[in-house]
Amino acid sequence: MNTLPWLNPARAQALQHALRERILIIDGAMGTMIQQHELGEADYRGERFAQGYDRLYNAAGHAHGDGCGCAHDQRGNNDLLTLTRPDIISAIHAEYLGAGADLIETNTFNSTTISLSDYGLEHVARELNETGARLARLACDAAEALNPGTPRFVIGVLGPTSRTASLSPDVNRPGFRAISFDQLRVAYREATDGLIDGGSDVLMVETVFDTLNAKAALFAIAEAFDARGTRLPVMISGTITDASGRTLSGQTAEAFWFSLRHCQPMAIGLNCALGAKDLRPHVDVLAQVADTYVSTHPNAGLPNAFGGYDETPEDMAAMLGEFAQSGLLNLVGGCCGTTPAHIAAIAGVMRGLAPRALPTLEEVA
Ligand SMILES: [Zn+2]
Ligand SMILES: [Zn+2]
Repeated sequence: MNTLPWLNPARAQALQHALRERILIIDGAMGTMIQQHELGEADYRGERFAQGYDRLYNAAGHAHGDGCGCAHDQRGNNDLLTLTRPDIISAIHAEYLGAGADLIETNTFNSTTISLSDYGLEHVARELNETGARLARLACDAAEALNPGTPRFVIGVLGPTSRTASLSPDVNRPGFRAISFDQLRVAYREATDGLIDGGSDVLMVETVFDTLNAKAALFAIAEAFDARGTRLPVMISGTITDASGRTLSGQTAEAFWFSLRHCQPMAIGLNCALGAKDLRPHVDVLAQVADTYVSTHPNAGLPNAFGGYDETPEDMAAMLGEFAQSGLLNLVGGCCGTTPAHIAAIAGVMRGLAPRALPTLEEVA
């Protein structure tokens, strides 16, 4: 898939150019910002989903009504806000762009049929991805219009889903799987097509805890690119969930990179689960072994007793500034608990610091 032409050559080249010049800033958490609005069930549902089911959707031979079984609580279904409260999502994108983000992530972390099945909304997967990308696109276009010298990029996000293809959720049945590679591939293909059609500049397979899930996503992306005869740059970001420094499916950062290197991503990185301090040794490893750009977007420290995050913008920015001074970073942002204030502080510290030098730049281009 890496011999296909870019879908949008001018934007892909602008991104490559920016990556050679400086450390690029990724936005911060969407969930943390949504939480501040203290939304209730009715906010999540909006008019279209007021009964819990999708008023616009009717399966053949079925009429919605009291007790028809389609109704689900939607509170906490943050991706649904793309359709029911686009004003909130657009405002969050604008805040992060105002804070200095070069790239913003679509509100699509759970917008696969697999994750949406928890809410009975599998049928809106494609729409959520396309509309999610479009909201981010509009926000980037508005920021570029205000500041024409600074290109802004939409990262179309593919989350890990809640299922694990490599491991059994039942310790007594190691051979059992709650999801197969092909089920993941089909779900990711639909999401990918929506993200591309909505105007993403980059696709990111994010918060990877299981390398096999990521491979299904990357396979689906390759299929989508092949079908279109064009491609977008791809980023992969794993997550270290274990005190021994491994992903859930048991790989160190180095093993993770070498399992996915054949996909020739534009960037490999780590995000979530840990704060910057605990993530540092693993980012250091990637910076040494990866012949592509390295990204990181850590949480704002480790969760406190209430599940919140306490690391201040200044503390987080200072730690990440040291990453940059040590030559570890090409792209940096924030995950859980981070806010526009964190991103503004990080952007401030990164200004003037050189990006990590690529070991073999020619192979990547
Ligand atoms: Zn129904
Ligand atoms: Zn996170």
